[in-house]
Order: sequence, then structure tokens, then C-alpha cells
Amino acid sequence: MPITQPLFGACRTIFAFFGTCFNEAGFYLVRTLFWQFRKPRYIILLGPPGSGKGTLATQLAPALRIKAMSTGDVFRREKAANTKFGRQVKAHLADGSLVPDSLTLAIVRRELIRPRYWFGAIEDGFPRTIAQAEQFELLLAKWGVSVEWTVLLDVNDDDLIDRLSNRRTCTNKSCGRTYNLKYERSVEAGICDVCHAPTAQRDDDVPEVISARLRTYREETQPLCNYYQVRNVLASVHPTGDMTKQEVFVLVKAALQG
Ligand SMILES: [Zn+2]
Repeated sequence: MPITQPLFGACRTIFAFFGTCFNEAGFYLVRTLFWQFRKPRYIILLGPPGSGKGTLATQLAPALRIKAMSTGDVFRREKAANTKFGRQVKAHLADGSLVPDSLTLAIVRRELIRPRYWFGAIEDGFPRTIAQAEQFELLLAKWGVSVEWTVLLDVNDDDLIDRLSNRRTCTNKSCGRTYNLKYERSVEAGICDVCHAPTAQRDDDVPEVISARLRTYREETQPLCNYYQVRNVLASVHPTGDMTKQEVFVLVKAALQG
């Protein structure tokens, strides 16, 4: 038995190595042969917690014929699979330091060369800092492209607080579906439609915590907005609290065309 564990690990490393080689070669071919016929599209989504970024990403992806990439999901997946990147991320989070920009960039790059992103991506949760934005710009420049649009979902604080404090989340961790007491109720009150587990309010969805989260968000995002504004690729939309997801989607599509 003791020999199987390292053997398994070694096999996985070798597979990962060949997988990356395949992706690098394939991506190189796609870039040189196909990008002149179909321009890749790199879109960034910015928006406060509760602004519906995740939903927008899933609506926008098929409309633009590219895939959405949630950096949060990628990090969670790497940590769960205990990959080399995953272990590095865990080590940084464990000692209370932030994940360094260079590591984030390396992970994003490795994702972007996967076949699903060969013609672009909608970035949700990245870049977070000016340093990341600059490094991302350099990476894309090496490929001869740049960020096409940065979409800012500019929802006002009262609407967000109203929306988030009415949010209820399925307590089953593997489901995690969210509901809203005002806009999107579950069929049976307090019970998840999908898995029938009870729904509850998350600890950080109470007004005081929400205000603190919004402050952090503004400090982080304002410089990024300026950064993309200067480059003429910032599209701000201002959805109001009573708009449906579909209405927000239409608004964003119009902003991207105009
Ligand atoms: Zn559920």
C-alpha cells in the first residue's frame, strides 16, 4: 500500500505535464491560425457583492460565444484537487498573507490556455488589483490582444443592502443555491427547490457586515475602474434594484454594442 500513493501522485504530475504541453501547443496553433478569422474576446466583469455578476456571466457567455471564468471557482477547484497551485494558494491563506499577484496570474494563464478559453473569456473575480490588471495586460499583449470591455455593474448601496439582506442560501454546501425573499422565493418557504435542504441567511449577509464588504469593494474597485476608463474600455451600467436579471442582461448587451 505505501508505494501506491506516491505512484499515483507521480502519474498525475505526468498527466498534468502532458495536458499542459497539449494546451500550449493547441493554443499556439489557434492563435496563429484562427484568431485572424475569429477575434478572441476578453471581457472583465466588475461589480459589488450581490450585483448579480455571476448570473450575468452565465447569460453573457453564450451570447458572446465564449466561456465565463470565475477565479473564485478556479481557486476552490485547485485547493480541492490539492494541485501544486492549490497547495501554494492554501499555504498563503494559512499564514494569513494574500495570494501573490504572480501566483494568481500563473493560475489564470494556465486556465486561459485550456481549450474552452481559446477564443476568449469573461473574467469574474479577476483582476482585483492594479498590479494584476497590468500583468494581465502584458500577458494579453504577448498574444497580440487586449481587454475588449470591462463591464461595471454599478448598483447603489441601498439596493445592494436590500438585496443581500433578503438573500437566503441553501445550507447544503454541495448545492448552495441562492434565493431572495423579495425577488426569487423558493416554492416552499425556507426549503431549497433543488435539494430540499433548509435555506438560511449567511453570516455575512446581515446589513452591518454588508456595509463593510461594500467599503472594501469600493476601495478595491475604484482604481480598476479608472485604469480601464483611461484605456477607453469601461462600460458602466446602472441597474436599479427592481430590475430582473433579464433586464440587466439587455442593458449590458446594449452597452457592449454602443
Ligand atoms: Zn439546495
